[in-house]
Amino acid sequence: MSDLNARSKAVFAIAGLTSSPAPVPDGTAESPLETFGSNVFDDKAMRRHLPRAVYRSLRKTMDRGERLDPAVADVVANAMKDWAMERGATHYTHVFYPLTGLTAEKHDSFLSPDGSGGVIAAFSGSTLVKGEADGSSLPSGGLRSTFEARGYTAWDVTSPAYLMESSGGMVLCIPTVFLSWTGLALDKKTPLLRSGQALSRQALRVLRLFGVESSLPVLSNGGLEQEYFLIDKHFVTARPDLLIAGRTLFGARPPKGQEFNDQYYGVIPSRVLAFMTDVERDLYRLGVPVQTRHNEAAPSQYEIAPVFELSNLASDHNQLIMTVLRKKARKHGLTCLLHEKPFHGINGSGKHINYSIGNAELGNLFDPGETPHENAQFLVFLCAVIRALHKHAGFLRASVATASNDLRLGAHEAPPAVMSLFLGDQLTDVLEQFRAGQVKGAGKRRMMNVGVDTLPPLPADPGDRNRTSPFAFVGNRFEFRALGAASSAAGALVVLNAMMTESLDFAATFLEKRMAGDSSRLGQAVRELIEEVMEEHSAVIFNGDGYSEIWQREAERRGLPNYPSTPDALPRFTDPEVVSMCERYGIFSRQELKARQDIYLEQYVKTVRTEANLALRMARTQIYPAVSRYQRELADSSGKARELGINPELSVLKETASGLVALDKAIRALEKLRDAAPKRSVLDEARYCQAKVLPAMRSLREVVDGLEMIVADDLWPLPSYQEMLFMK
Ligand code: ADP
Ligand code: MG
Repeated sequence: MSDLNARSKAVFAIAGLTSSPAPVPDGTAESPLETFGSNVFDDKAMRRHLPRAVYRSLRKTMDRGERLDPAVADVVANAMKDWAMERGATHYTHVFYPLTGLTAEKHDSFLSPDGSGGVIAAFSGSTLVKGEADGSSLPSGGLRSTFEARGYTAWDVTSPAYLMESSGGMVLCIPTVFLSWTGLALDKKTPLLRSGQALSRQALRVLRLFGVESSLPVLSNGGLEQEYFLIDKHFVTARPDLLIAGRTLFGARPPKGQEFNDQYYGVIPSRVLAFMTDVERDLYRLGVPVQTRHNEAAPSQYEIAPVFELSNLASDHNQLIMTVLRKKARKHGLTCLLHEKPFHGINGSGKHINYSIGNAELGNLFDPGETPHENAQFLVFLCAVIRALHKHAGFLRASVATASNDLRLGAHEAPPAVMSLFLGDQLTDVLEQFRAGQVKGAGKRRMMNVGVDTLPPLPADPGDRNRTSPFAFVGNRFEFRALGAASSAAGALVVLNAMMTESLDFAATFLEKRMAGDSSRLGQAVRELIEEVMEEHSAVIFNGDGYSEIWQREAERRGLPNYPSTPDALPRFTDPEVVSMCERYGIFSRQELKARQDIYLEQYVKTVRTEANLALRMARTQIYPAVSRYQRELADSSGKARELGINPELSVLKETASGLVALDKAIRALEKLRDAAPKRSVLDEARYCQAKVLPAMRSLREVVDGLEMIVADDLWPLPSYQEMLFMK
């Protein structure tokens, strides 16, 4: 096989695989009822391993957000260490979430010298609570100067420690925040925790006006649906673009794409099912409540979704899900692509955030109840959402802005970059009635007649589904669909919490003023609030088709902001109203916001630059040689034909020759633009990448994809879309 190119080798390797039975995952017979959470230092483990008083004190910190008693930490650390070592752990690590969006860890052994030539296992409260991490190679956006490289990790008591299995053994993982030595947030978790606290304060203020109290904080929940692609790893080996950039920079559309709609909810191929079972087995042990798995719209695209949890936990668990997906894929000879747009012309991958607010005592505050109309408290929370989204659409858009997500948003498969709110007709009607000052009553919940005698009538969802809206009410929660598959969910959750905090503060203040201490005026005050919010902010409500051209124009007419690309969106992080909101509620300082803006812009520039380099290298060293070989072959054969007195067909040769010229031109054009990038500021460079480099990459791609359709298949060096998406 030595004279085969990488692509042919990949195809042969996979053809061999598909004829052998799918690998059987370990532990298929395991019951999740028994193993769920077995690798987590969870409530059950704490109860068993901690003295009663310590357990109670820790529980208070976890549930009510009370400060951790340092005396408790030592006892907990010791118990945690024993629990972990019993299960084979040798090391521990403070896991944190730097601004790269990835998960970072540094492993330390439990063992330390005992002073007489041996070792003892030790893990003190102080090492549990606080770690030191030299994060000088992680982005800090100037929050930590390199001479002061020290960063600290601090235990997040509200996210339980767990054991991560790896081929070599077990590691005790402790979820932590990551701070500079002056207390600035260098990570994604710290602001999320801060925003939760802020949200709780304002939500409780509103609830108090309704005579509702709670001993628990009122926090947000996140239900995160994770989409991903799964392809055979051999193809990735043969495609530098997939290997390095996580997406294909070239590739002609396959003859069959997703036009048959035969993939969504289709039967899961056995090799993939074996992978999924294996993934779920690990996630169950890690206490991640995985619930659904199914095929997604595109070929080779899938989704995994756990049951919703508190935002902080949901975000940590999503990071774990991404880690486990990647790791297990390798074990099964597959590659999990979390990139938002691995294949041009094929649906991309998102990470939908199902968002609600509430707690175990109060339930879900976005639940309209039997009659949304009568549920004044629900309507106040709904108003807060309307106002929040209208005021901070730019900030929310910025929280999902990455180079890779730009390829998905607005591509008629994912929501547009304009942030609008889908409420459905019933709720919109209720609100409009309030605004018009004529409350007719919306009646009871609509029932849906199934038309089958043996089936009872089912309650109709008050929020019908609209998949074209970035922010949709879906019955008892909002589904935010603009986040990309590869991003950490924390950034968007912080923005959702922050904007809700501000609007709940506004609502509480408004109601307090109108009621002036007289609780009998609550009904009237709520009515006035709804009127005011609808008057000022109803422009953000849109129940129609978000993919349509008409909406783009209508949104502009309504004055809704549209930031189509990352360089347009990221500067919103330092808009005055964003800074003042974040500072007011202690979620971000101006400095922290500016750092994020700069880091994310830099990431954008680096991504585009890397992709441009990759595209150039592939075009020069793989595509160009293949095309010129083909041209020679054609020239040779037409020469021979002429010798034999046959008039050769020359149109393919002409096409190939002019394709080669176009390729050469496109390569040179991209090279020139790449090298001419301005270095004034990172924002300038990002804008330049978006306006100049990306279009030149697209032009190069067009030429290459055209050539893929004419060059002899056995000469083409890259696995085709058809092979990657349909061979498994
Ligand atoms: P769909 O594909 O129809 O959107 P999925 O079942 O894939 O639905 O995902 C729904 C997600 O929403 C799950 O993670 C689910 O736990 C979550 N969810 C359900 N109720 C709530 C709620 N009240 N708050 C937040 N998330 C919720
Ligand atoms: Mg969904």
